[in-house]
Amino acid sequence: MQMEELSTDILVIGSGLAGLLSALEAERAGLRVLLVGKFAIGMGTNTSLANGAFTAASSGFSKENHLRATLESGRGLNQVKLVKALIEKGPDAIKKLRDYGVPVLDKGTGYIVDRPKGSSQLPGVLLIKPLVERLKNSSIRLLPGLVIFDLVVEGGEVQGALGFLNDGKPCLIQSRAVILSTGGAGSIYRRNDNQRSILGDGYTLALRAGLPLLDLEFVQFYPFVLGEPRLSSFLLYPPYPREVRLLDEKGEDLLERFNIGRDLNQAVIMQRDRFSIALYQASQNGDVFFDLTQVPREKWEHYPLNFLKKSKFPFRERAFLVSPAVHFFMGGVEIDENGRTSLPGLFAAGEVVWGIHGANRLGGNALTECAVFGLIGGQSASEYVRQKEQEQGPSNLFSEDFIKKWDRKVRAYIRKRRGTFDPPRDLLKGLKDLAWRYASPVREEESLKEGLDRLASIEKGIEEVYPATLKDLFKKRDLENVALLLKAILKGSLLRTESRGSFFRKDFQDLDDANWLKNTCYRLEKGELQITHRPLKDF
Ligand SMILES: Cc1cc2nc3c(=O)[nH]c(=O)nc-3n(C[C@H](O)[C@H](O)[C@H](O)COP(=O)(O)OP(=O)(O)OC[C@H]3O[C@@H](n4cnc5c(N)ncnc54)[C@H](O)[C@@H]3O)c2cc1C
Repeated sequence: MQMEELSTDILVIGSGLAGLLSALEAERAGLRVLLVGKFAIGMGTNTSLANGAFTAASSGFSKENHLRATLESGRGLNQVKLVKALIEKGPDAIKKLRDYGVPVLDKGTGYIVDRPKGSSQLPGVLLIKPLVERLKNSSIRLLPGLVIFDLVVEGGEVQGALGFLNDGKPCLIQSRAVILSTGGAGSIYRRNDNQRSILGDGYTLALRAGLPLLDLEFVQFYPFVLGEPRLSSFLLYPPYPREVRLLDEKGEDLLERFNIGRDLNQAVIMQRDRFSIALYQASQNGDVFFDLTQVPREKWEHYPLNFLKKSKFPFRERAFLVSPAVHFFMGGVEIDENGRTSLPGLFAAGEVVWGIHGANRLGGNALTECAVFGLIGGQSASEYVRQKEQEQGPSNLFSEDFIKKWDRKVRAYIRKRRGTFDPPRDLLKGLKDLAWRYASPVREEESLKEGLDRLASIEKGIEEVYPATLKDLFKKRDLENVALLLKAILKGSLLRTESRGSFFRKDFQDLDDANWLKNTCYRLEKGELQITHRPLKDF
């Protein structure tokens, strides 16, 4: 199939909150902007699932309080410079969202997306809608249904990206700057509350482009995700009514046992790490139930219970299974306060980025991060492009030789090979099961090693998948990405012999500042994953 060639000033990969704001900001600078995502713009994003809580200085919450709470949650691993930018610029970013028509309310301890009375629509959808409307009325070119496979790096700088449209057409994009806003990787685990397509593509794009990733072993779990076998595992959205009970199989009250206090809403914001680990351990010995049967009828008319009420499942009549599940990735790509990565021309924003949250993210800081660094990424990328224009004039189109080179790469992706062939779906399921079993909220040496052995045998199966159809081509890429990330998480977890924030080793249960106030640095060198540790840069 003929390769499509496109040219732009700024390419934004991903249409969640970070990508949408980056694109709008870059357009304001008068540049040509192309925004791509795996699906329709704004769809299939974790942003669309979000509960709409932004933590930022507000009427009853000072910048000092925000700084303190963020650093306490991060247990010593936050990049303080990035945290300070988040805190300083948070309130202005919220104002910008309002200017774009997003209904954000000051709720004293931060902000929340407002919803019409009685509406059971998810706040994330209400957050995205006005931004997408704005995009449609802008000069930004939208290209939905494009999956980026590679960043184009030439002469030590990013010059664009290569992807495949969902009809199979390869697409080579020339761009002076690229903003990576591909979100996290929650769906590499069997139990997660993310969108199914959030498989960490941005991390592997960065690794393959030669960038290091940091602290991938820090994965945040959310305590309450629906665990009923035949229902999808969605997050049970807070705020929780005070009548809610958390019970084990014998009906014993788990909140008493965990000693976490009776305020579930505070606990899921401030102690998500401890709470998830305790719940995971309890669920290893038997089922854990969430009981809403004592909640008065009138409370079911309001969000979030009215959202549950829409389901056929009898949430009001009986207790139901819950489990912790993967929610957020703290690790990722390194940026400076201007959203720049160490690769010239590449910027990053949103969950794909590492550094702000340290070892455990404070609830509500992810959306604030997307807003603040989405705007910063758009501004910095625009300045970079303007400067390049001054130095080098308008960009030249890719040369014929260059296009031939990438055409060969495309052919290599779709070349048929002989080999035995396990269905990619089974292999992906195998990887997700492996992640949940061996890179779970509670890790230890023996099982991490066993996980790595099992992964090696799945990797052999992946090598033998040949993309006979276009679907297989996408699936093979997913398999390679997930296997690479899982290997990183398992190996990185094996090396970190302590417990910190969301990272818990059963065989090393204490926080060890003397030896582990360090960041884990993952690189791909000649196709092999290399892991080193480096002292904190910020202190
Ligand atoms: C259920 C749930 C509730 C949450 N609630 C809150 C909350 O209330 N407050 C809070 O602070 N945080 C919350 N979070 C976390 C927060 O929503 C996310 O961290 C944030 O929305 C991520 O935004 P993003 O723009 O970085 O990425 P996303 O919104 O995940 O978007 C990623 C985009 O990248 C695209 N993409 C990925 N790979 C490729 C590729 N190879 N090629 C092309 N496009 C690609 C995707 O298609 C998508 O468009 C919640 C998370 C979940 C799952």
